[in-house]
Amino acid sequence: MTDTQQKAQRGDFRSVPATAKAHAQDLIEFVQASPSSFHAATQVVERLAKAGAMVVDEAGQWPSAPGAYVMRRDGAAVAWIVPEKRDSLEGFRIVGSHTDSPGFRVKPYPAAASVGYAQVAVEVYGGALLGSWTDREIEFAGRVIDREGKEHLARTGPVARIPQLAIHMNRGVNEEGLKLHRQNETTPVIGLETFGADIFDTIAAAADLDRDDIVAWDLISCDTQPPRIFGTHGELLACARLDNLLSVHSSLVAFEALLADGLTSPDTTLHTVPVMVAFDHEEVGSATTTGAAGPLLSDVLTRIAVSLGCDLERTQQLYRGSVCLSADGAHGVHPNYVGEHEPGHRPQLNEGPVIKINANQRYATTAAGQAEVIRIARAASARIGQDIPVQSFVSANHKPCGSTIGPITATRLGIDTVDIGAAMLSMHSAREMCGTVDPWWLAELSREFWVS
Ligand SMILES: [Zn+2]
Repeated sequence: MTDTQQKAQRGDFRSVPATAKAHAQDLIEFVQASPSSFHAATQVVERLAKAGAMVVDEAGQWPSAPGAYVMRRDGAAVAWIVPEKRDSLEGFRIVGSHTDSPGFRVKPYPAAASVGYAQVAVEVYGGALLGSWTDREIEFAGRVIDREGKEHLARTGPVARIPQLAIHMNRGVNEEGLKLHRQNETTPVIGLETFGADIFDTIAAAADLDRDDIVAWDLISCDTQPPRIFGTHGELLACARLDNLLSVHSSLVAFEALLADGLTSPDTTLHTVPVMVAFDHEEVGSATTTGAAGPLLSDVLTRIAVSLGCDLERTQQLYRGSVCLSADGAHGVHPNYVGEHEPGHRPQLNEGPVIKINANQRYATTAAGQAEVIRIARAASARIGQDIPVQSFVSANHKPCGSTIGPITATRLGIDTVDIGAAMLSMHSAREMCGTVDPWWLAELSREFWVS
């Protein structure tokens, strides 16, 4: 089918449903409250605790009673439900995502200065679109550790900016593109030395500590411009960290819905263990204590199985009966770079969740996984009374695609995994964009995946 035929079939106009608008507004608030992975993981814990989940301390005794639970390990969070009826459990149903986004991390010796400007020494984190960070007001956020080893969440507010060189001194920039030397030309300005600008004072104030009490930090740059719904019909959303807080948020909202549905009550029909996991460090390869290649998820699944009284044999049965929905940003087709996309697989914004497929297994999706997503999309459509379309993404053969947590969890745990996500543009920019309807649909898909 050609693009024009497809368009004629789906109709030329669709308004943004009120539910999608409300979901997008909640997403905006979640992103604004989550300037770093530590904040995002804390948001997940706080919201689910408010919805009735019990907060688990990993260092303590693992709970076994039926109910909903949530825990945080640094910048990652995991939530799960132990159903009342446990003998007939078929496995875990996991929705995975990640809390981190590319940017600049504050170095251990952060004080820098040049010709009267106070600056902050930063290190590039992940595959950031460096140019997108210029000429915007930046804050630093994350955690600060004090002398006692105690963690303090902190955000500085707008204190920094990476100013571009005037075109008069860089005449070829429009033809040659903005080239930034990663070491010499990305150092943000934080003020003027004559005004006593000092990054230690800024960090101390953000953590509400005396400067002598701060010892170390994990602080990353964030865009300070508020997210904005735009487009002639409010059908588009511009927002920082959509990759991948959009997916973290959609699974969080779906998990909250499970709790609101009373799925921890004795008459629950759950025959699987719903698990929500938001990993950290996806943008730098996931091989950490809180990343998808580390032990976080297997630690949690094993401890749940042990608490349910499962032996090794029964645990392996549960693993084989498990499925993982790995949710991460998908590449929407770009109107100005259509040639960069595979002609038959061009995800559109607000045309539904995208199933990501790659022959070389950069995505974990199998044919069976695709069928499962289509099945739950149908069931969710029937439940909400509105069609949730599903799209497929395959990268063009001359464009090696990125990867995500899906293949890593599939390889580590041997659990069938499907890679999905909402279509977006400007991926890894300081400010990305997506459709206003897709996040809500993704949440409904996650919810259906857990209950059906
Ligand atoms: Zn991502």
